[in-house]
Amino acid sequence: MSSLEIKKVTVIGAGLMGHGIAEVVALSGINVDLEDAFPEALEKAKTSIRGSLARLVRSGKLNQEGADEVFNRISFLSDLGQSVRDSELIIEAVPEIPDLKIKLLKEVSSACRSDAIIASNTSNIRISTLAQNVSSPERMLGLHFFNPPVLMKLVEVIKSEKTSDDAFEAAYQFSRKIGKTPIRVLKDTPGFVVNRINAPESLLFCHILDKGLAKPEEVDSFGRSQGLPMGPYELMDYVGIDTVVHSLRYYADALDPEYAKCKYFEKFMDSKELGLKTGKGFYVWENGKAKIPDAPPSTAIDLMDVLCVEINEAVKIVEEGIAEPADIETGVKLGMNRPFGPMSVAEGLTNAEIKRKLQKLSDKFDTKIFYPAKSIEEGKLREVLSGKAKKNAEEPKKEEGKTVAAPSGEGEPVALSRDVGKRVATLTITNTRNNLINVEVLEGLEKHLKSLWNDKEVNVVIVRGSGKNLSAGAQLTQFFSSPMDFAENSRLGERTFRLLSEIPKITIAEMKGNVFGGGFELASWCDIRVATPDAKMGLPEVTLGLVPGWGGSQRLAKLLGMSRATYLILTGERYEGKYAHEIGLVSKLFPAETIEAETDRFAADLAERIAPISAGVAKNLINKGSDVPADNGLQMESMAMGLLYGTEDLKEGISAFLQKRKPEYKGR
Ligand code: NAD
Repeated sequence: MSSLEIKKVTVIGAGLMGHGIAEVVALSGINVDLEDAFPEALEKAKTSIRGSLARLVRSGKLNQEGADEVFNRISFLSDLGQSVRDSELIIEAVPEIPDLKIKLLKEVSSACRSDAIIASNTSNIRISTLAQNVSSPERMLGLHFFNPPVLMKLVEVIKSEKTSDDAFEAAYQFSRKIGKTPIRVLKDTPGFVVNRINAPESLLFCHILDKGLAKPEEVDSFGRSQGLPMGPYELMDYVGIDTVVHSLRYYADALDPEYAKCKYFEKFMDSKELGLKTGKGFYVWENGKAKIPDAPPSTAIDLMDVLCVEINEAVKIVEEGIAEPADIETGVKLGMNRPFGPMSVAEGLTNAEIKRKLQKLSDKFDTKIFYPAKSIEEGKLREVLSGKAKKNAEEPKKEEGKTVAAPSGEGEPVALSRDVGKRVATLTITNTRNNLINVEVLEGLEKHLKSLWNDKEVNVVIVRGSGKNLSAGAQLTQFFSSPMDFAENSRLGERTFRLLSEIPKITIAEMKGNVFGGGFELASWCDIRVATPDAKMGLPEVTLGLVPGWGGSQRLAKLLGMSRATYLILTGERYEGKYAHEIGLVSKLFPAETIEAETDRFAADLAERIAPISAGVAKNLINKGSDVPADNGLQMESMAMGLLYGTEDLKEGISAFLQKRKPEYKGR
């Protein structure tokens, strides 16, 4: 059946959603029967629809004649059999009580046309559960409208295992025809897309109160400070705390028992304080407004926590083959009235950041619901975002109640290779075409430098970029939730880069292609820089409203002196490897075509000739000696001499010199 053949629709249940859905359908020119078991509900629906149409007339979207036509397209009935008899599409919108819906849908399926599509507007319940007694479940699906249906553009079109492709496509096209933006939900997971992404968030807000980490008004104050029109608890009061609790109970039953772990909201059910509808919930409500006590924004919650929880659930939805990333993005934007969805937020974050946040949340609240999804655990967030993630990923392995990822070497942003014969290790940044430095790259560098620290088989470390560039700079599109977060990122880079100047090995930066900002700073922390004559480099931060970070403002002055460093930093000037060589920033120039081979050769030569302990101690003396008064530096130098006096390498160095042979240093 195609959407064009849907000439008549029945909506069952004339409540908040049902009357709105009927109005939307009638506005698109299609006749509707609005059925309710309770005549007073139909009267209320008539008033509400008239009121809504009057508002459309007042705003100029309809004239009075048009509004009357729309109203006349709706028949108000209290007879189920009669209402569904000749409709091509039936949309059920009775209360979210599974048994009620299952019973009603059975009746509908035996009274309606044999080719009619039967849809449920359920918020959470699996379509296959609702279809269990329907005579032809291939015609049953979900059409999830959002409140208020007249204003909200989104409709989730939900397929169960048994829904036929024809019925699914017809419902999708119908949703477009009535002016909505449908998204395809390919499996009927509890909560589908939007509510499922909301589910762990509700749990997080429950745990915050359960653990006494903040008061509702403090968290809501924080929410408003972040630009939300309502804080999360005010919103729960507005929607009804019972609705939230029923959803959490259903998720505990159908999705994960851990949704039952948090008990805080349950006490509102006992006291029947359900929010706006009862006049009291988290807050007292008067004249439709919550009386929220003044409170400072909570520091117990971080916007990033909430965003990462959303991203995590969105990733699980992709992994389970429930919806495509683009549909999830559209769903959250339209369903939650947001300028962005979890997919675009994730674009600006690194896999490592999200993973770290989620692991912390999972530990803090002792729930595996916040534990990173498999793709995040394995560093494959980018694959998910680009739609390349493998669908229906296997369940993560479980060990003693913890989720443990399968090992994976893929997607490492920094690769380590060791040539033990030559005593040289190479760290290659491989994350993107420009090798932009982000938290993942910093963590990769840190991990490998620490693993090389006591590696007796490596004397020299090369820092290289894959492809044409060393690194064009820091990834500026990363998302930071606060100035402190940004400052912390700056500290992270500086701590990581400092390892290059402290590790007891000679470090060599290979500068080629673009080497700007963070990439330049990375090179500046190495002991030696080699470059191609045409490598493009510089510190452009001041031209972007920043200052050179990750030690850039400090290190360059040490390398070149204040005058030259000040000039290069304040002008943001770009220059080439040739000039950098002239001013002593770069020690060797190698042709672009052969730079890798030349750097390897140079490193191997150093690794063979230089006593490793001497190299480690000498670089420390240079780097630390310049930070202390001259007398202390000289004292450190004498102490170092004393230390080296007892080494085997010193004896070997002197013997080899006297015997005119190559030394064989052991690093002892
Ligand atoms: P509601 O309580 O406002 O309306 C339900 C209507 O169903 C009432 O008018 C009631 O008289 C009628 N009804 C009850 N039993 C009936 C029966 N046997 N036959 C015919 N009519 C019957 O509920 P609502 O908020 O409109 O929710 C309806 C559905 O839409 C639920 O499944 C809900 O989860 C879903 N939904 C609600 C929202 C929301 O924000 N309220 C948003 C999206 C989806």
